[in-house]
Amino acid sequence: MTKAPIQGLHHVTSTASDPIRNVRFFTDVLGLRLVKRTVNFDDVTTYHLYYGNETGDPGTALTFFPFESGRPGKVGAGQIETTAFQVPADSLDYWTERFDAHGVDYDDPTERFDATARTERVLPFRDPDGLRYELVATDRDTSIEPWDDSDVPAEFAVRGFHGVTLALTETAATADLLEVMGYEETASSGAYTRFEADGDAATVVDLHAVDKRGRSGIGTVHHVAFRVLDDEAQTAWREALSERGYRVTPQKDRQYFRSIYFREQGGVLFEFATDGPGFTADEDANELGDSLQLPPWLADDRERIEAALPELGAPEVAR
Ligand code: ZN
Repeated sequence: MTKAPIQGLHHVTSTASDPIRNVRFFTDVLGLRLVKRTVNFDDVTTYHLYYGNETGDPGTALTFFPFESGRPGKVGAGQIETTAFQVPADSLDYWTERFDAHGVDYDDPTERFDATARTERVLPFRDPDGLRYELVATDRDTSIEPWDDSDVPAEFAVRGFHGVTLALTETAATADLLEVMGYEETASSGAYTRFEADGDAATVVDLHAVDKRGRSGIGTVHHVAFRVLDDEAQTAWREALSERGYRVTPQKDRQYFRSIYFREQGGVLFEFATDGPGFTADEDANELGDSLQLPPWLADDRERIEAALPELGAPEVAR
């Protein structure tokens, strides 16, 4: 079986605190669509909330486990340090005004990789739990269509992920893995090295050499998922990674995709997730995110599960 190169990111999953505040921020402020409200299949007392474009296409899906109480984490080595979204070139004035209006914690825009041909303007910001993000203003191509029913005008709207930055004490082993996955080193600047996949969206992975290790907890990224086309491609990757000594989990059914997981040598949890079946597997496209969805194996427990979850609000509120 041959393994096809990885095309880019599938989703990024983080831990948050207040679920309502989380919904408000990513829908009202960032203009993403809440495409799925379900539970963490490994801990059904916690929501799993998914945001993305209209149908939460691979390369757009930002997901959260909101714990109402828990220890805050610390961002550092062994983690995804920053998650970057792509926005159109020349849209950062719009976004800084919008962030001012909504009281978002952000830094002045800067330029990234300005020693290379591809200079990108970057607007760093934090969500209410302190997780770090960037809007990257770029004219690079993407196949992602923005969600066009938020109050962010389509000409400025988020077009899925640009990429992620991994914080690592040692970058060499992770760089080797990315090359095995099909990524190529395209630039470096200071403590940062850029890798890009040969896909049409969410293709960037930056490695950032840092000293201090992070600690998982609220306000940190839990894992990053990369796209594989289907089960066959995933199986080929599982074999290839196992041969390289990675301890890869068996396939898990995540209802909207199927997943394998392993920890790369820098300590970051990687997932390879299938493109399908997608978020319309159990809801019509026009009703995505409106109500709590449970997979077949949890459906009999709906009453007990719903009773233990905090109220998230009516569809029109959470939209
Ligand atoms: Zn995941």
